[in-house]
Amino acid sequence: MKTELLLKEIHERYRSFNEGKLANYIPELAKVNPNLFAISIVTTDGEVFEAGDSQQLFTMQSSSKPFTYAMALSAFGRDKVREKVGVEPTGTSFNSIVEIEANTHRPYNPMVNAGAITISSMLSPEKSLEKRREEMLKFFGSFAGHELSIDETIYQSERSTAFRNRSIANLLRHFQVINGEIDGSLDLYFSQCSIQVNTRDLATMAATLANGGVHPSKYKVIDRDTVSDVLSIMLSCGMYDTAGEWAYQVGFPAKSGVSGCIFGVIPGKMGIAVYSPLINEHGHSVRGVKALQDLSYELKLHIFR
Ligand code: GLU
Repeated sequence: MKTELLLKEIHERYRSFNEGKLANYIPELAKVNPNLFAISIVTTDGEVFEAGDSQQLFTMQSSSKPFTYAMALSAFGRDKVREKVGVEPTGTSFNSIVEIEANTHRPYNPMVNAGAITISSMLSPEKSLEKRREEMLKFFGSFAGHELSIDETIYQSERSTAFRNRSIANLLRHFQVINGEIDGSLDLYFSQCSIQVNTRDLATMAATLANGGVHPSKYKVIDRDTVSDVLSIMLSCGMYDTAGEWAYQVGFPAKSGVSGCIFGVIPGKMGIAVYSPLINEHGHSVRGVKALQDLSYELKLHIFR
């Protein structure tokens, strides 16, 4: 079946599937329309296939984490980054605090909040938030192929209610994983989570990773070695405490965000992004998981099959 037709069929299949809840711990995220549902595929040659509300903007939330990780790897290399953040799955939820307290005090991986906040703290801590945001948006924009912006309402909403993320940052500061002040780095973290994209943007960003770090329109964004580090961690840790099940069933690197987005990378082939705001207890879009499972099966995308 033609890809476009398949996307429309899968969209139709799950459009009225109403399990899950809106993320309500960030108050502004609880106000979005729960019926929104979009799927985009962008191939490594830049071909686009879409279904549903693919022009709808949403905030990246944790789907931003692989990109800030790539930014830190590009700036410092893997050894320096690994001194601060490990590469092991946690088996616990995205905002867990327990593994910082146990053992090494170093975040297990850059896909959970503790790791991502540590990565933010490495990105030009000496500069103003404005400058740090500008550098981050430029980096993310080069994956998407155009300038991106921050949803300031969502940013403020998360910033003013982020009690748990502040405790994580305080604990990381206590163990000197983060040095210096934590507020600026938390603000950068909330900023990355509030970057606005639609599924076409996110699928294009994913296609750049699928294409070895080269944007589908052929300019280089990051090194191939960085891509391989990012995709390895996405496969083992990107779907948090369901990462094992995901690798087993769906079989390609992916990252979710609590706004209801998930993007997947099929190396050498394509990037896929889905968006639908009702999420399950692990923080993954319910319709998004279903759609990606079916796409993996029907387009034979499992990388080990
Ligand atoms: N901004 C969210 C948080 O830090 C991101 C979580 C997610 O998308 O998984 O809680």
